Amino acid sequence: MHPATRLIHAGDDLEAGGRPLRTVNPAVCRASTVLFERYEDLVLANDGQFPGPTYGTDRLPLQRSLEAAVRELEGGHLTRAFPSGISAIINTLLAFTQAGDHILVCDNAYGPGTHFCQEILARFGVKAGIVASNAGAELEASIRPNTTLILLESPGSNTFELQDLRAITGIARRRGLLTVLDNTWATPLYLQPFALGVDISIQSVTKYLSGHSDVLLGTVTVTEALAARFDAFYRVMELFAAPEDCSLALRGLRTLPVRLRQHEQSALEVARWLEGLERVGQVLHPALPSHPEHQLWRRDFQGSSGLFGFTFREEPSPGQLAGFINALRLFGIGYSWGGFKSLVTAGQYRRALPSRYAGRTIVRLAIGLEDPRDLMADLGAAMAQLG
Ligand SMILES: *Cc1c(COP(=O)(O)O)cnc(C)c1O
Repeated sequence: MHPATRLIHAGDDLEAGGRPLRTVNPAVCRASTVLFERYEDLVLANDGQFPGPTYGTDRLPLQRSLEAAVRELEGGHLTRAFPSGISAIINTLLAFTQAGDHILVCDNAYGPGTHFCQEILARFGVKAGIVASNAGAELEASIRPNTTLILLESPGSNTFELQDLRAITGIARRRGLLTVLDNTWATPLYLQPFALGVDISIQSVTKYLSGHSDVLLGTVTVTEALAARFDAFYRVMELFAAPEDCSLALRGLRTLPVRLRQHEQSALEVARWLEGLERVGQVLHPALPSHPEHQLWRRDFQGSSGLFGFTFREEPSPGQLAGFINALRLFGIGYSWGGFKSLVTAGQYRRALPSRYAGRTIVRLAIGLEDPRDLMADLGAAMAQLG
């Protein structure tokens, strides 16, 4: 054989002869081509009858492991992984709607998801109506003859209102509508979506499940009734999640309960402390008795995570707000959350319907795994900047 050929085949025997190493954390397996043993296997693959992965887009082993782990955690029937949380939302809407449908979206749903409905889904003849951020049984009045799906997020992004999930899933069941819940804030550890009657649960794995601010991934988990339809959609779309990202997410998932407990305790400590400060208006944390939907949280959730917001008693000027945020030493200024480092964002959040917080700046804190005493000292020092 010539050098080029020898180079291509060098080490082949070793790979074929050696058994894969047994490791605690499964090794990353990257692939486009998956090699078949025999031509007959290729024939099976051509017919869709081959039992294992047939190609890089056919859910490589780590993706399958991640999906199985999330499915177990969510308590659903089938899970599929997506390149990001927003991709999970978008593809859920594409999978379960068709031209002529009307869907309902809660006003505090993740903004880019609502934006997708308005900018893209509308072009394919699916209309989205907005329902209240704290929607409950009265949502039934918004259902039209062609309404097919309700997109929920509780607590919702940035303003943290809760929907009455039991009331809404009860109505949806009775009227034959699908309910989709973005369950990223609580994670399946603190809210079991399928026990509450939800049909489809979405996780931005990017957040707590991965937990280290270095991965973008999403998952969608569905009931048995929707499994075949969603699996078929996923295959047609040739979607997949990158092996390295699945590996990092799986690694993060192992420590989720320990991390989340600490996020929960630290965030509660900081939130309660903030409530007592002169300069703070409202603290928007579902586990505080002062939260308007606190009773819903008590009824449906098993815990709270590390993301919450607060307003100032006196609305700060843009300069004062910048001074406060820039004075924070331990909080990174940036999007996303769920990692070990504390983060801060701030803004006024536009809503389609009247909002409790119209015209009010909300500072959103993602409480990381630092010692909460240091975080409070940091926040206190930055507050002093407000004058
Ligand atoms: C961040 C987020 C998403 C999107 O997740 P990405 O992985 O960043 O695309 C979706 N829903 C909620 C509630 C989020 O916070």
